[in-house]
Amino acid sequence: MQVLNPATEQVVATVPASSVEEVDAAVARARAAFPAWRAVAPGDRARLLRAFAERIDLHAEELALLEVRQAGHPIGQARWEAGNLRDTLFYYSAAPERLTGLQIPVAGGVDLTFKEPLGVVGVIVPWNFPMPILGWGVAPALAAGNTVLVKPAEWTPLTALRVAELALEAGLPEGVLQVVPGEGPVAGRRLADHPDVRKIVFTGSTRVGKELMAACAPNVKRLTLELGGKSANIVYADADLEKAAATAPYAVFENAGQDCCARSRILVQRDVYDRFMGLLETAVAGVVVGDPEQEKTEVGPLISAPHLAKVGSYVPSDAPVAFRGSAPEGPGYWFAPTVLAPADVRGFPAWHEEVFGPVVTVAPFTDEADAIALANDTAYGLSGSIWTRDVGRALRTARAIEAGNLSVNSHSSVRYWTPFGGYKQSGLGRELGPDALDSFTETKNVFLSTEL
Ligand code: NAD
Repeated sequence: MQVLNPATEQVVATVPASSVEEVDAAVARARAAFPAWRAVAPGDRARLLRAFAERIDLHAEELALLEVRQAGHPIGQARWEAGNLRDTLFYYSAAPERLTGLQIPVAGGVDLTFKEPLGVVGVIVPWNFPMPILGWGVAPALAAGNTVLVKPAEWTPLTALRVAELALEAGLPEGVLQVVPGEGPVAGRRLADHPDVRKIVFTGSTRVGKELMAACAPNVKRLTLELGGKSANIVYADADLEKAAATAPYAVFENAGQDCCARSRILVQRDVYDRFMGLLETAVAGVVVGDPEQEKTEVGPLISAPHLAKVGSYVPSDAPVAFRGSAPEGPGYWFAPTVLAPADVRGFPAWHEEVFGPVVTVAPFTDEADAIALANDTAYGLSGSIWTRDVGRALRTARAIEAGNLSVNSHSSVRYWTPFGGYKQSGLGRELGPDALDSFTETKNVFLSTEL
């Protein structure tokens, strides 16, 4: 597999793709490593995870630069991503000593529950946030005593391969964390089909997520899905309009719009629509799109030529473009931030489908009920933002929107210590936060009779 720098179209590296036999061999190693890993004393497993996190920290700049080159992420963002992997590992390094069960009152004895690891876990990672998404699966899985295989995306295997080397250097035993680079339908699919892989954590498209649900069914394999999104950014007339407009471009154009949480639909209350659009135009003009290695760059290129073509198909020559930002010319998969304002959003493809690029569609709404109905008119339900000074309305709207992660007067949605995941076709299960450990363990109930 050729890894290309999306900002230059130059080859960065060539990585061999794992065959089904190679995946099977890796699964066998992970299975062999499992009994010893689950038996590591909690305090020692915690120490190993902290050493792993420290190793990531020591190599954060190297990892960030790898991400810049293979994924085109701006260097500042890539540094944050390496830090997020480190922090997620630190957070779950506190879990081994805290994986407590319950003691439940029963007659005639004692009832205890235990949280036991599942065995071999497969983590299938997309190309849009290779390091954080790897960490969200790997860290809790290892902390709970599982062994892990990571299948990175075809375009972006380099950081995952380096992270696995750093895990070994930190002292994690052989076979506990392995990376199997390869093609989705071959290496990824094999993890889903393999009877010895007990759980799949998949982040990617809704289409592949549905396929994997079916592939996991014959073995009743556990599955966590983080899929697509079409999130709404709702701006009420009483909001701090300057702040809402200044931040809206970053809520959708960051990572060149290749973000499952991208607020790619902006809903603006009709009374302030014209004023908001004026402010938004200024904000979009200020977005710095360019060379990801430059410190001041805010948005880089798209990941690949086919993806550029797909994003471009949502902005044909007769598209209702309100205004656009700028992007470099020449080599690289560049796409200028684009704001669309169709007369009617019903049936408008960029309003309904996940573009996964720097394209946002804006629509006016009349009142709270109209905003909620428009926001929920989608098969997805991942995140969203609500801008208003009315606390009651903020909470009513947040509770009414069918999505897993809402933010009020901000666009933050993913913190490693709070739960993250989707409603409807945006996913299944939750990652991160205190509850993620439940999806990497089975609960065992044991009753001890104390009768004579
Ligand atoms: P994708 O589904 O094409 O690929 C994701 C991963 O799955 C890659 O590693 C790929 O190799 C693998 N894969 C592909 N086909 C497979 C198959 N048949 N069997 C097993 N594995 C297979 O998605 P993508 O284009 O890489 O990523 C973009 C999508 O990911 C978007 O829809 C985006 O919304 C979603 N995403 C969701 C979240 C979230 O947390 N909800 C986060 C990031 C990205």
